[in-house]
Amino acid sequence: MAARAFSTVQLVNGSTGDPVLYLDYPGSDNALLFDGGDNGSLTMAQLGDLEAAFITHHHVDHFIGLDRIIRANMDRDKVLHLFGPVNTIRKVYDRITAYEYPFFPFQKIVVKITELLPGKMRTATLECTKRFPEPEVVETDWVGPVCYENADLRVEAVHAEHTVPCLSFALAEKSGYHPDPTKLAAGMLKSGAWVQEALKLLRGGAGRQTRLQINGGSFDLGTLATNYFTESPGARVAYITDTFFSEAVRPDLVKLAKGAWRLYCDSFYASAQAKQAAQYKHMIAPQAGELAKAAKVEQLVLIHFATRYAGKYQTLIDEAAAVFPRVTAEV
Ligand SMILES: [Zn+2]
Ligand SMILES: [Zn+2]
Repeated sequence: MAARAFSTVQLVNGSTGDPVLYLDYPGSDNALLFDGGDNGSLTMAQLGDLEAAFITHHHVDHFIGLDRIIRANMDRDKVLHLFGPVNTIRKVYDRITAYEYPFFPFQKIVVKITELLPGKMRTATLECTKRFPEPEVVETDWVGPVCYENADLRVEAVHAEHTVPCLSFALAEKSGYHPDPTKLAAGMLKSGAWVQEALKLLRGGAGRQTRLQINGGSFDLGTLATNYFTESPGARVAYITDTFFSEAVRPDLVKLAKGAWRLYCDSFYASAQAKQAAQYKHMIAPQAGELAKAAKVEQLVLIHFATRYAGKYQTLIDEAAAVFPRVTAEV
């Protein structure tokens, strides 16, 4: 089983509400959010810790939470990365400028928006200190699947097949040293800026005798590596929702989920509603099982159950389990 570096993975509204997945890492300003639906049960502190949010599409159940994301980060001196399909720049800009701002000097948020289209990406930067002028859009070629990368991980995106332009995502942690949430919680040193500093040195191949000054003490890198970090191949988490499981998208989706520690997957309908699934471009529960099986994932978590199954969600779980037994749902 691949070791995981994140300290929190939270399916915010369970399997029955708006699909929203929140992952956090030890340290600040480094949480990731998949989808922008109702996030009312995430605290402003959790949302303020975001480094990047990945929005599958602009249906209200995937986009209504954007305002809270912006609000939670407004007073922060940081770059917040937002990803989404075509028209994300315009839609985010319109939402942000739907409000008036006092433009206090401490409101320094910079929102970097990237919209992904087949073969290209468009980026624009919205700056609060400039009072959010009309965005300048820069277009570049994009071969995919990686759309975002930092020192610890990459995020991949592919185009799904929904009634509107829609993306599916996977987070792939890099192999090598990762902060270990369990060790950090148990250790004497509290998590802080030193974690990233030590990580950079470890990944850069610095000697174990290298000294670091932390909170007035002096520590050698080797001891820190042993006590607070884990060397691992890194985990993959796939987030696939609001897509029809057509022959056209199936290869991309299987590749995206390949070997994932956990696949969060659309299971909007049961097989009796296959016709509706084809019409409204969603997956049926057995297809979620099929995808998990083809991608050889460790665990499948079903998400986005339609309200018509309230009180009988077990049908959906049973249908997926018949194809792929390592399945769960949060109902
Ligand atoms: Zn949708
Ligand atoms: Zn939806």
